[in-house]
Amino acid sequence: MGRIATVDALSQRNCFSGDSMCVLCEDFDESADHLLCGCCVASNVWSMVSRWCRVSPIFVFSVRDFLGLSDFSGLGELAKEAFHEILIVGAWCIWRARNNKRFNNSLKTAHDIFLDIRSLGFHLYRNRSRNKAISWANWCSFSLM
Ligand SMILES: [Zn+2]
Repeated sequence: MGRIATVDALSQRNCFSGDSMCVLCEDFDESADHLLCGCCVASNVWSMVSRWCRVSPIFVFSVRDFLGLSDFSGLGELAKEAFHEILIVGAWCIWRARNNKRFNNSLKTAHDIFLDIRSLGFHLYRNRSRNKAISWANWCSFSLM
């Protein structure tokens, strides 16, 4: 923990002295926990992910809790594996959206981020899982058999 180069982590290392606000919501100071768990943009993304994957709404307060979510998803083994990949890809897509906004002033909506997760997740899942024959249509409906 503390390895993600968020504003709070960089400030603790005396490597950052600019605006500490989260660039996605502009309401709270940026930290990894805020960016991936507490931010309203992330919450909207995770809401779309939970509806897509047909799991209970995702409410977590720390990255540590976030990483264990798939273990408590109630999904079968194949779907649980996919859901875990989706969470990791989701964190990456939120981080990328944060960087695009911070460094390029390019803003993505929560829905844009969700679409990135679904697209990137499909390619990763199809190439890394045992379920290589999955179609895009089945992926989009989270029908993994
Ligand atoms: Zn935020």
